Amino acid sequence: MVDPYRPQRRQTRTIHVGDVPLGGDHPVVVQSMTNTDTRDAETTIAQIAALADAGAALVRCAVPDMKASEALRSIREASPVPIIADIHFDHKLALAALEAGVQGLRINPGNIGNEAKVDAVVSAAKAADAAIRIGVNSGSVEKELLAKFGGPTPEAMVESALKHVAMLEKRGFYETKISLKSSSVTHTVAAYRILAERVDYPLHIGVTEAGTLLSGSVKSAVGLGVLLYEGVGDTLRVSLTHDPVAEVGVAWQILRSLGLGERGPEIISCPTCGRTEIDLIPLAEEVEARLRTVDEVFTVAVMGCVVNGPGEAKEADIGIAGGRNKGIIFKKGEVVRTVRGRENLLPAFMEELDAFLAHRRG
Ligand code: SF4
Repeated sequence: MVDPYRPQRRQTRTIHVGDVPLGGDHPVVVQSMTNTDTRDAETTIAQIAALADAGAALVRCAVPDMKASEALRSIREASPVPIIADIHFDHKLALAALEAGVQGLRINPGNIGNEAKVDAVVSAAKAADAAIRIGVNSGSVEKELLAKFGGPTPEAMVESALKHVAMLEKRGFYETKISLKSSSVTHTVAAYRILAERVDYPLHIGVTEAGTLLSGSVKSAVGLGVLLYEGVGDTLRVSLTHDPVAEVGVAWQILRSLGLGERGPEIISCPTCGRTEIDLIPLAEEVEARLRTVDEVFTVAVMGCVVNGPGEAKEADIGIAGGRNKGIIFKKGEVVRTVRGRENLLPAFMEELDAFLAHRRG
């Protein structure tokens, strides 16, 4: 059943990065970025595969030099998802990346030198059917705008982005998406809100330099959650100082919590309390680890006591509740099996889970 309280998406034009549509009524797309050396194609390809398996529909690779842009050809050929080349300043790298077949560029046309260089990149992007992301970070706002606005304010970031956008529009290029990232959640939200009123391009949302796994996930969830709840955001990247595969998982959790996308089982587990009768934390972690590669959407509950657990988790498709040296397995609140001995709980649960999945898959 569609949740009537689900956020209404802002209407934008639709653009494509390879075969992935962005904007309009298309689902919000999860993307990530490799942190391998792009020149090492083999390692980069392996990381892209892991990101795609985790649910990234687009992957961006840094292109620091010509060797990296040359490696993009084999990376792009082996990648299961479209590749976006991340370019700073050097238009020759952008041309080489397009030549290698990437489906998107992240480049700010105002940063690449003169008009002729912008002409060359835009013509090549048009010829390759590639999209361009304009990405303004609070740290990259131009000096004159810093002076005009008194710092890298949300208004300054928006004005900077619009200058880059105008350079593309002047050349008849509209396959554009825009990001405005700050490490401040409130500035990020304010900037996107202003921009959303000014353009109909799809927006790539993210909080930059968000931090380590816990702090970065919380900051991203708060900032991106507010925006997505307001309908703003067509693709998101969670930036973490961590394995990028974790970024993808966090992004999906954000989408799931707003009813904007689902992937894999949702694990609900009780917070534990004085009635907890089992070492629940490792049990929940074990269940989560065992389900990491499952794609199907369903709800799994891991609860700390047999008295309240099944009732508290009665919406779960399948669940386990621990008792004193025993446990019960339940489906939609009905007990289907009682298991004796802590060591038998997980194997018995996985058996029931396999049977449940086999039944669903028909
Ligand atoms: Fe406490 Fe049981 Fe509820 Fe867990 S399920 S929070 S152990 S009452």
